Amino acid sequence: MVDFALTEEEQDTRRMLREFALNEIRPRAVEVDKDPEHKFDWEIIRKAAELDILSMPIPEAYGGAGMPLFTLVLAIEEIAYGDAGTATTIGINWANVALILIEGKPENYGKYLPLLASREGMLSCNACTEASGGSDCATYSRYIPGTHKTMARKDGSDYVLNGTKTFITNAGVADLYLILASLEGYEGRDSTAFFYVPGNAPGLSIGKVEDKMGQRTSPTADVVLSDVRLPEENVFGELGKGVWYVENCLFPISRGAVGALSVGVAQAAYDEALAYARERKQGGKRIIEHQAVAFKLVDMLTNIEAGRALAWKSAWANITTFGASPELSCMAKVFCTDMAMRVTIDAVQIFGGYGYMKDYPVEKFMRDVKLTQIYEGTNDINRLDISCYL
Ligand SMILES: Cc1cc2nc3c(=O)[nH]c(=O)nc-3n(C[C@H](O)[C@H](O)[C@H](O)COP(=O)(O)OP(=O)(O)OC[C@H]3O[C@@H](n4cnc5c(N)ncnc54)[C@H](O)[C@@H]3O)c2cc1C
Repeated sequence: MVDFALTEEEQDTRRMLREFALNEIRPRAVEVDKDPEHKFDWEIIRKAAELDILSMPIPEAYGGAGMPLFTLVLAIEEIAYGDAGTATTIGINWANVALILIEGKPENYGKYLPLLASREGMLSCNACTEASGGSDCATYSRYIPGTHKTMARKDGSDYVLNGTKTFITNAGVADLYLILASLEGYEGRDSTAFFYVPGNAPGLSIGKVEDKMGQRTSPTADVVLSDVRLPEENVFGELGKGVWYVENCLFPISRGAVGALSVGVAQAAYDEALAYARERKQGGKRIIEHQAVAFKLVDMLTNIEAGRALAWKSAWANITTFGASPELSCMAKVFCTDMAMRVTIDAVQIFGGYGYMKDYPVEKFMRDVKLTQIYEGTNDINRLDISCYL
């Protein structure tokens, strides 16, 4: 039986997050977006932690709410309704929790999950990309061994990490870094591993901090590892399987979630455009009464509904049997992010000249959503991944 009705709990979560997104996240994000230094807004993260938003996916036994993936997909849409960058910063945390729960060693749960569930607002990073390339880094089936220049060398029972990670979300504000590195002495595709690296590890520093077009509330920077020494217990999961975890664990969750995130931005842009079209008069009537404008709004809304349905289906498919439909996650990512790009451009168009000005919210939505077509594998890389299932 197909049932699109949300449970009471899911509806409550959505309502609470929509309120938080509109009253707290969006007004603060607009200020950070304008700040030339785009200083990280710790206050909003602490408030999110106090409302138990950061800890939503963490099992109750470790201090969280233990929400299933489907609820998280609903939640990320609502956070992105307020601000895409804040949703990215929180979404990476959630994806890391999922990675730890699904593929991490159970003996490490107690060490890292309570930290990420903390009401202090602890954040994490997932660092795969390097300057030598993002697309070549993260797909196991197409992985070219040696792409990752960051090396992990065994020294006694320790590992010593050296290298630089590029474009890393939450770099500089995270307490926990999941770092992907090539293993010295290993060959072939099974030659990488993730390592748990504490934010205060000697030898870990932050390099270039990026000045971005959009999502300026979410920090992005290089992570430099210089002789970072880690005990063996900081190896995540199995040695050799780093890139495999990205393709088979992280992406089936995170790509669909990026789809849902972009649905949230598209919905926000549509709501603003609809309100404006009902107010603004040209040619002696409200612009929504011009069929060209009404049809644009109709297409925006229809596509948002289609995107949301695909994001929900991807979450449902991948949680019912974990990782069962990675291609659906890629489809949700490609469809929703391309759709949200079109919708936000149309929203700017409906606002006319005012849409191009920073006094109105829609130009920020357009800048913010562009990133969703690039990160978590560009949409072309996602299309390549879907084509493997044809
Ligand atoms: C703001 C931001 C935040 C990010 N956060 C993180 C993070 O937290 N952690 C992390 O590890 N990474 C992160 N990334 C990196 C991101 O995933 C990569 O930028 C992305 O995968 C693309 O890699 P690239 O930039 O090296 O582009 P390239 O791989 O150089 O691609 C350039 C172009 O070539 C195309 N292309 C490349 N290969 C192929 C191919 N085989 N077939 C067809 N087309 C191809 C791409 O689609 C793209 O259009 C982030 C990036 C940004 C911009």
